[in-house]
Amino acid sequence: MRHDAHGYWIEEAGLEGSPSLPALAADASADVVVVGGGYTGLWAAWWLKRQEPDVRVVLLETDRCGFGPSGRNGGFVNSMSFSLPTLRQRFGDRAAIAMAHAGDESVLAIRDFCCEQEVDAWFVHGGYLQASTAPHFDGAWDPVAAACSELGEEGRIEVLDRAAVRARCDSPLFRCGAFYPMGATVQPARLAAGLRDRVLAAGVEIHEHTRVDSLSERDGGVVVETPGGRVRAGAAVLGAGGSLLRFRPLRRSLTVTSSHMVITEPVPDLLEELGWTGGECITDSRHMIHYFRTTRDGRIAFGWGGGRIVRGANVHGRAEIDPDVTTAVLEHLHRFFPQLEGRPPAHAWGGPIDVSPTHLPVVRTVGDRSFAGFGYTGHGVGPSQMVGHALASMALDRRDDFTALPIVDPPTVNVPPEPFRVAGGAIIRRAIISKETAEERDRAPGAIARILSGIPERIGIHVGR
Ligand SMILES: Cc1cc2nc3c(=O)[nH]c(=O)nc-3n(C[C@H](O)[C@H](O)[C@H](O)COP(=O)(O)OP(=O)(O)OC[C@H]3O[C@@H](n4cnc5c(N)ncnc54)[C@H](O)[C@@H]3O)c2cc1C
Repeated sequence: MRHDAHGYWIEEAGLEGSPSLPALAADASADVVVVGGGYTGLWAAWWLKRQEPDVRVVLLETDRCGFGPSGRNGGFVNSMSFSLPTLRQRFGDRAAIAMAHAGDESVLAIRDFCCEQEVDAWFVHGGYLQASTAPHFDGAWDPVAAACSELGEEGRIEVLDRAAVRARCDSPLFRCGAFYPMGATVQPARLAAGLRDRVLAAGVEIHEHTRVDSLSERDGGVVVETPGGRVRAGAAVLGAGGSLLRFRPLRRSLTVTSSHMVITEPVPDLLEELGWTGGECITDSRHMIHYFRTTRDGRIAFGWGGGRIVRGANVHGRAEIDPDVTTAVLEHLHRFFPQLEGRPPAHAWGGPIDVSPTHLPVVRTVGDRSFAGFGYTGHGVGPSQMVGHALASMALDRRDDFTALPIVDPPTVNVPPEPFRVAGGAIIRRAIISKETAEERDRAPGAIARILSGIPERIGIHVGR
């Protein structure tokens, strides 16, 4: 099995060793400088040029565009329906409905972009299935179903019994579940590469291998420093994922953890046997979520959100390659699909997850002329399109439906300061894993694990969706 940082999708898309764009080698100026070439930065650059074709945009990426989480995620393109209860609690009913609709439109905008721009990211609208794998998780979706019914949004979720879940995918662990028709999948690296190409063609100046070391606001604009030169611009869009922790004003805004994935060799015969041929992306109902999907050549891609807390803003190292967590992921894959016995996996990889204390994405004005998008908490593929749109509008001083979304400059919720963020976070994550592992095996969790895993909610930090 190949085990590396960049993962299978980048390899499959033929991007390894493909030509990169030259690093910034002299001072430059622009109307807007974009920091980070993942989905957030690329969508922002795309919408900047769509809204004002003459605007001068420089995008700086420390590695290659889309080689971070944006090119190596599970490829689940989800709307925000499963966050309705959290959205309601935080923003009220009207704003929650507006966010849910914006989440749907974001999924559809990605589909339409791929179609209109002829970006073949293998977008499949197969829906998202949330399954229960133990009695404790039965009905984990009930709050979403209740919120949908109370808000008149019934079409967002369909509650399924065991037979209906198993008809979609016959894992021996599945007991019952819920189906969200708006869910889709993409080949994530193909989407990122297609976006990069179209953004370039739209006239954005992209510099890869260009790390932004600092950002300051000066004379009504911004200055970013890189090893090869400085860029002065009227505004900055910050889409640097977990690395945003490096920027002082955002240090209390997020925690960084990691998620790790494996992918099998093609097993189309097994998918037939499982009846898993509808393209559904699937998760269990744990907070430390297992997520899995099929590919067009009949593989199973399987991930787990149970990686470790990252120290500081170090999004490399064990956040990307963690043999211990990968061994656990492989074990879990075989619990879901014991039929894989004797069929070795092809590739393993991992990457950082930017977790916000509310578990909702955030668009934040930082200073006067800098705007950051982050906090997707492992669900950024769908929402990053609308976040990028909001960031573009803000950098252009426009006010529109995107800047009016409740996730734009919401009331601040901070994560605890160091050392509690990392040390406390690591202890609590271990407790949640231990509690959920017991629950998954239909055993009572230990008292300490139960008490520790309840701490985040007691101090105002949301766990879940
Ligand atoms: C293993 C894994 C599986 C996932 N599965 C899913 C999924 O199935 N569905 C889903 O919705 N989400 C998933 N996610 C989360 C999803 O990938 C992210 O929410 C999304 O990619 C966020 O995009 P982004 O552009 O904000 O950040 P990133 O993709 O992290 O992009 C940030 C970019 O900024 C660059 N950068 C960082 N620092 C600097 C700097 N100082 N200067 C210049 N550039 C810099 C980085 O190199 C990177 O390219 C998963 C994540 C991982 C790791």
